[in-house]
Amino acid sequence: MSSIYLDHNATTALDSRVLDVMLPWLRTQSGNPTSRHVFGRTARAAIEHARAQVAEACGAYASQVIFTATGTEANNFALKGIAAGRPGTQILYSAIEHPCVSRPAIAMQQTGWTSRQIAVDNNGIVDMEQLKALLSTPTSLVSVMLANNEAGAIQDIATMAETSLQAGAFMHTDAVQGLGKLPLSFTDLNVNAMTVSSHKIHGPQGAAALILDKRVDIQPLLHGGGQEKGLRSGTENVAAIVGFGTACELAVANLDNFANHTRALRDQFEHGLASLNVTIFSKQVARLPNTSFFAVDGIEGETLVMALDRKGFAVASGSACSSDSTEPSRVLLAMGVAPDLARGAVRVSFGTHNTAQQVADLLATLKHEILRLKQLTSIAA
Ligand code: PLP
Repeated sequence: MSSIYLDHNATTALDSRVLDVMLPWLRTQSGNPTSRHVFGRTARAAIEHARAQVAEACGAYASQVIFTATGTEANNFALKGIAAGRPGTQILYSAIEHPCVSRPAIAMQQTGWTSRQIAVDNNGIVDMEQLKALLSTPTSLVSVMLANNEAGAIQDIATMAETSLQAGAFMHTDAVQGLGKLPLSFTDLNVNAMTVSSHKIHGPQGAAALILDKRVDIQPLLHGGGQEKGLRSGTENVAAIVGFGTACELAVANLDNFANHTRALRDQFEHGLASLNVTIFSKQVARLPNTSFFAVDGIEGETLVMALDRKGFAVASGSACSSDSTEPSRVLLAMGVAPDLARGAVRVSFGTHNTAQQVADLLATLKHEILRLKQLTSIAA
């Protein structure tokens, strides 16, 4: 495929160094990590090594890392598992959460919990005053993402955690988009639970983790053989977990380079966009260095994404996980963006391997396609 990949917030290619550490676990006889014999013990040791690597990358202790298969599972586990100890209470989540937080929160209303959204401002930053006001009702859990997958806006999670803990609520953050892109410390964020996922940092799909602090009483979603301290039963995916551990180590070593390199590409890109009369979202606030989310008035984001795809550039319209829908981005609607403009949203998310030449080529193609699509629209009208 000769296309240029510019969709790193959706997923990332497996790093060949990660593949190298995974291959032996796929090729040779690997024991079940719960088995007592040498094969089982070797697999167990590999998982524990990966646990320490993930913990190190997240500023947490190894004992706090619970492996899951996906970030989606870890987020569902956090919401349903933590709230389970306090039936009937309130769950708060921001209006721009990933559906794997908002949907379980909404689903839990059917079984007795009340879930309420916390509003965000025009830049996608959570309204702290509203959070404080909502916390006057007994609340079991507050869940706010560290960095938004679409616009990239970064939240002040530590302050929200302090406010929530003072009100007697536990705090969870979905840090799936933060790992490998921002310095990350579970301890400094002062949250009770945090989600990270392997495939966003050049690790394999099929591994993720919920980092949990000891103060939290959490109920498992899956019952069975008692793996992961009884919190996540099911035979571990050893190869994926081992790959996740190495991907974490590599991501931390590359963190400064990632931030500097992708920020330079993003700035070059947005400088080029300036002549195109586009709206760039969350530009006024701290956001992920690699992410540019913008809209061209009068052109559907989906149409532009398909036009760019035909020309060899892989970008996204809104969130990848909901890209089969033509509804305007929920994130932008929550930020008060008019539905027509929100329908035009396109996300470019850079990675370490992208180059300045690719950005220049993308800009030239984008200019050409926008002009062409605008002409088509005016002929049709
Ligand atoms: N949270 C955020 C912010 C995401 O961007 C994603 C994936 O796009 C997820 C959670 C889900 O993670 P996973 O793909 O590992 O299920």
